[in-house]
Amino acid sequence: MTRTVHIAADVAAALGPEQVARLTGPEWIDQRVQCWECDGWMETGEDVAVLLVRVTDLVDPDTGASTSFALHSHPACSPSKILVTTDPEIRARRGALATQRDEDEGDDVDAVATVLDTGRGSAYPVVMFSYRTELIADSPGPERVDLVVSGLMSFGWHLVGNLANPPGPGPAGFRLRFTHERPAPASPGVLELLDPAGQVETAVEVTPGRYWRPGVAISGQTVLLQGSRYLTDWERRGRAAVKAAVRAGSIVGGIVPVELRGPGNDVPRARR
Ligand SMILES: [Zn+2]
Repeated sequence: MTRTVHIAADVAAALGPEQVARLTGPEWIDQRVQCWECDGWMETGEDVAVLLVRVTDLVDPDTGASTSFALHSHPACSPSKILVTTDPEIRARRGALATQRDEDEGDDVDAVATVLDTGRGSAYPVVMFSYRTELIADSPGPERVDLVVSGLMSFGWHLVGNLANPPGPGPAGFRLRFTHERPAPASPGVLELLDPAGQVETAVEVTPGRYWRPGVAISGQTVLLQGSRYLTDWERRGRAAVKAAVRAGSIVGGIVPVELRGPGNDVPRARR
């Protein structure tokens, strides 16, 4: 059964063709999504309407553009339309939408830990976080800025130009911790991103590819790539989807230290 995604003409014009393609493409079409109006879930076969929620008082200080969220609703709860609102209104109604990522419990992010080829006979360990939020800055020009990416860049993460060359070091103090119980290289565990204050920003269960943990045990570090909605179909599209997201300028990254907590990591560390 195929989902119909209702997008009104004024919503489509405000979103721009690239966002419309994403909202009707594989990034979203097979996803279970939540209704902004009633909080109920819409399964993959159910039709959805796209709401553009424009928050007039959340303004980018550099561009003057207000912030818009592309959200879903049951067509019966609300047709596709532009909803103009304010930050206090949203907070009053929903709790802080802007910090939804922090408040959701773990299932707001898809994660993969694997190794990527440089194409020059070597490979590097990489962790990929793909946030399930879709936040765009509303701007008058053709360019819609991915707020996940621009927000992360403001912390010091680097825009990733290609996968053959790993990005530079991530912002100081950010690090990953992987906690696992069994010694086998591909044993599942919990991967946590810690901020400079030691607070857990993101925690997610991961079954790493079999070369990731051995690579990290040797180097003590990994590349971390972050973006939104680029790992939704890792099993089928895998690296092609990641490369497409990199080409679209929607992935940021950096090298971060990794603490491995579990058996089977007693490999001599390379000197740095
Ligand atoms: Zn609804």
